[in-house]
Amino acid sequence: MPVVVPKVELLAFTGGEKIAALAAKLCYSDASISDLTDAVAVSEQEKFLATLNRMRHHSVFEHISFTFGIEGVSRAFTHQLVRHRIASYSQQSQRYVAHTGGFDYIAPSSVAANTEALEKYNEIMNSIAGSYDKLAALGIPAEDARYLLPNACATKIIVTMNARELLHFFRLRCCERAQWEIRGVAVEMLKKVVSLAPSVFGLAGPSCVSGACSEGRMSCGRASENRRKFEELRTSAMERNARL
Ligand SMILES: Cc1cc2nc3c(=O)[nH]c(=O)nc-3n(C[C@H](O)[C@H](O)[C@H](O)COP(=O)(O)OP(=O)(O)OC[C@H]3O[C@@H](n4cnc5c(N)ncnc54)[C@H](O)[C@@H]3O)c2cc1C
Repeated sequence: MPVVVPKVELLAFTGGEKIAALAAKLCYSDASISDLTDAVAVSEQEKFLATLNRMRHHSVFEHISFTFGIEGVSRAFTHQLVRHRIASYSQQSQRYVAHTGGFDYIAPSSVAANTEALEKYNEIMNSIAGSYDKLAALGIPAEDARYLLPNACATKIIVTMNARELLHFFRLRCCERAQWEIRGVAVEMLKKVVSLAPSVFGLAGPSCVSGACSEGRMSCGRASENRRKFEELRTSAMERNARL
């Protein structure tokens, strides 16, 4: 069955801006940690963290951690995701989870929008599913039968990243240069975290959101449009959170 909509859920969030602010204060103070904990007033956190962000004193953001559950995505996507090394991953196994009786798969919109292409695409997926079932019936273990499965095959993954790595991830993967699937997921992840740590993620997004585009002659040339888009994304995420 084709699956087209990825689902991104924020499963856990630890640390928060207070911890990052506390860690930064600790660097510049001889006070005890408990005195500092009391001293980190919520009101001044925002300004302080925004300054750290501008100074790129990003190591303190490593104390803030987010865990996401992501499903309805392809193996092509997860292959790109796991290239981000400063993170922890747990992915549904094709060795231990058999894909008999048909498997879910992702249809790119370029394929889905073209009736003839979609028909061919679905036909090949069904043929792979049939061959997979045939191997399973011949006693071939799932770990070997999976060599037939395509990049399009749907999968599920849990990922934990700290806020510093997330900023880096958003810079690369919210960019128009990133492929549509990982870009879509990255934008959903950003929507989930921005209202939880606005001083950290206030300028998160592709490089053009916080400065010059880093893509050189590969630039999409839509920096102003992107700045507006990510500003709107932040505003609506903050409003949504305020209503909860
Ligand atoms: C548009 C786009 C196209 C791409 N095309 C290709 C492609 O054709 N082929 C391909 O193979 N990959 C490709 N990639 C993947 C890319 O090369 C990176 O592997 C991926 O983006 C992970 O980024 P990263 O290495 O910066 O960061 P992460 O692994 O997320 O690490 C974060 C940062 O930590 C530091 N770091 C982490 N590990 C090390 C280390 N071992 N040594 C030193 N510093 C380290 C680096 O500063 C790094 O930027 C592409 C990525 C994008 C966004």
